[in-house]
Amino acid sequence: MAITVVGSVAYDSIETPAGRKDRCLGGAATYFSLGASFFTDVRVIAVVGEDFGPEQEAVFQARAIDTRGIERAAGKSFFWEGSYLDNLNEAKTHTTDLNVFASFNPKIPEAYRDSEFLFLANIDPVLQRRVREQMPGVRLVAGDTMNYWIKDHRPALLQMLKGLDILLINDTEARMLAANNNLVQAARGILSLGPHTLIVKHGEYGATAFFSGRSFPQDAKSPHHAFRAPALPLEEVVDPTGAGDSFAGGFFGYLASQPELTPAVFRRAMFYGSVMGSYACERFGTERLQQLSRKEIDERFIVFRELTHLD
Ligand code: AMP
Repeated sequence: MAITVVGSVAYDSIETPAGRKDRCLGGAATYFSLGASFFTDVRVIAVVGEDFGPEQEAVFQARAIDTRGIERAAGKSFFWEGSYLDNLNEAKTHTTDLNVFASFNPKIPEAYRDSEFLFLANIDPVLQRRVREQMPGVRLVAGDTMNYWIKDHRPALLQMLKGLDILLINDTEARMLAANNNLVQAARGILSLGPHTLIVKHGEYGATAFFSGRSFPQDAKSPHHAFRAPALPLEEVVDPTGAGDSFAGGFFGYLASQPELTPAVFRRAMFYGSVMGSYACERFGTERLQQLSRKEIDERFIVFRELTHLD
């Protein structure tokens, strides 16, 4: 099953306690695609500028990610600069230059139209909604956003949320979106805005899924409330950039590779998400994901199982 993803494809300048890297390939759709590509076919919709070259394109090609929906426009690619010097769990944004994304009008290539899964990775909610509206027949839609859009683009964001089945955000964003500091109450509030399921990412502490009665209609008699997957305690976090998007890629990629969305499949998907998030942190930018193998993913999945197994 193929996933179409729309979101930022960017250049990032990043500073962490482990060092600094300037203008490396980044973007929410980039990390998502790399993460999901280990599980299923991925097709990207985005726009890049004249500074996006064959070296960046090759990163997608190496993982057989379909880039026919990446438009090239006059100008510069999206640029983001952030640091994690005080807190490895949360980026401090220094610069966000939308550049070519400011005038982007997403078009869905004909070859993408039979995608059954749609992921609206982090970008302007207006663009996310435009893509959603052009793909009315998809089976499952998940998406992400961040404080930047929650704070200053709220009306557009609320419209976008109506078109989502699953929302993935981090805990600060969940509290901000719901204007409620209690995470359970915040989750309940968010589940009334559109998505039937909410995944709250807690950085190095893992992720929690909050379900509603609509999450598993085939299982309506035994309601599911919440499920938590851990993160792997890592000895060194080199660069947490993209961990959330890689989590989303592993999670949604695994879901798309399965015939049915059951509670057990959902839980396993959360673990695959955590596996991808943990690998993303091990090197700067997309470096680790570029060198990853399916064997390593399966090995770490077993480590995660052992980390949480009771008997
Ligand atoms: P995360 O998984 O949350 O660490 O996402 C990191 C990626 O998000 C970086 O590669 C950035 O290029 C991208 N990013 C940062 N700010 C924005 C924004 N406002 N809209 C879209 N993408 C962004």
